Amino acid sequence: MKVYNTLNNRKEEFVPIEEGKVRMYVCGPTVYNYIHIGNARPMIVFDTVRRYLEYKGYDVNYVSNFTDVDDKIIAKSIEEGVTAAEIAERYTKAAIEDMEGMNVRPATVHPKATEEIDGMIDMIQTLIDKGYAYEKNGTVFYRTRKFKGYGKLSGKNLDDLSAGIRIAVDDEKEDPMDFVLWKPKKEGEPSWTSPWGEGRPGWHIECSVMSNKYLGSSIDIHAGGEDLIFPHHENEIAQSEAANGVPFSNYWMHNAFLNINNHKMSKSAGNFFTVKEIAAKYPLQVLRFFMLSAHYRSPLNFSDDLMASAAASLERIRNAVSRLRFIADSDTEKTSDNGSTDEEYRSKLLELKNKFEAAMEDDFNTADAIAAIFEIVKAANSHIDSRSSAEIINETLDTIISLCGILGIICEEKEELLDADIEALINERQAARKERNFARADEIRDELEKKGIILEDTREGVRWKRA
Ligand code: AMP
Ligand code: ZN
Repeated sequence: MKVYNTLNNRKEEFVPIEEGKVRMYVCGPTVYNYIHIGNARPMIVFDTVRRYLEYKGYDVNYVSNFTDVDDKIIAKSIEEGVTAAEIAERYTKAAIEDMEGMNVRPATVHPKATEEIDGMIDMIQTLIDKGYAYEKNGTVFYRTRKFKGYGKLSGKNLDDLSAGIRIAVDDEKEDPMDFVLWKPKKEGEPSWTSPWGEGRPGWHIECSVMSNKYLGSSIDIHAGGEDLIFPHHENEIAQSEAANGVPFSNYWMHNAFLNINNHKMSKSAGNFFTVKEIAAKYPLQVLRFFMLSAHYRSPLNFSDDLMASAAASLERIRNAVSRLRFIADSDTEKTSDNGSTDEEYRSKLLELKNKFEAAMEDDFNTADAIAAIFEIVKAANSHIDSRSSAEIINETLDTIISLCGILGIICEEKEELLDADIEALINERQAARKERNFARADEIRDELEKKGIILEDTREGVRWKRA
């Protein structure tokens, strides 16, 4: 399996540290507002990477944080006159709801910054003890020049970066490229007690600490949007490797931006749609399908036209699946096998399944993987009809449903019968029996059975349960 590694700017064979296991960390959202669909891109993309790795048999430990203390959260809390914790809690809940809607599975662990402050204080202290950090008047800075590998992820050079940046007279930094690990409390802000006084952590330290705590000092994959390469991920490497003395992450994966009119979608630019706004217009499965229709390292332009075309494509797969299900469930006489054409069709199915896997093995090329699913749909539409054998229909259904499942695409909605609908059908069945219309009564029983509802006729009346 090949993975594009930002650290070396090339596709590399994926070899995890421990056989059969993957330790993966994905930088999560800052919860100061509803997430927008740009934030949804890394969620969907890396959830798909996780699903594929699991499909390949890896045991994936997937950690993704919520940044729940930060300037923007504090600003919003002041604006609304509520606590920062209330803001963070509200938007964390909303983000989890959106993730569920997009069929993004919960991480193995979703740590929150505010619950990991002790670990951050410990790592900052280690960095001070090792000479990689220093304190000035309650602020702790990272001594960037001391870390020899600084710039290895982004390809930036400290001298180029600091050229032109002057240290202000009142600046406490030794070097303009030093960054904050801990900042002193300001009036009205949430704060924690530390060896450097009351204060709160800088942003970058939380990911180094959480990754280390939940996954260990060296991990396989660290991921996020490409805007995080510099400075966030560069700083994470500096913190983790200086503190732990071992390589931090072997593979760095970054998704390209979701754009609108070729500009990055962002809250600050005001050109964004929240996931909730999109959910009011389209099922979120369509959003997921749209995101995966492009390779994750290609910029993707959002438009209504592209969403409509994603909706139509998803519908085509779903129609094929529902036709197959209908044929499978219908009572028409099935010829057991129709010889050589079935053999040919079977090998075509296998070939396309391999094509899907080859696309995913090539740095998770979901665009080509979806194309392979369409070829299966096309082959099924022309090969399968009411005389096809149950085996071949089921094989086709299993293939389409499982490949879609690897992408987190639900291509068959299970019809959930509501209790009221079940009772109504039972009453109709009782009425049919009274009229001695046993054919209709049996039909209703069969219909319910297919939907997993089992009827039991007792002396007290009809009882039912879900199978
Ligand atoms: P934030 O809440 O801004 O820290 O962002 C959370 C995640 O969303 C990070 O991985 C960002 O890189 C990613 N992200 C933000 N905006 C976009 C965008 N327009 N396209 C793709 N990813 C984005
Ligand atoms: Zn991070």
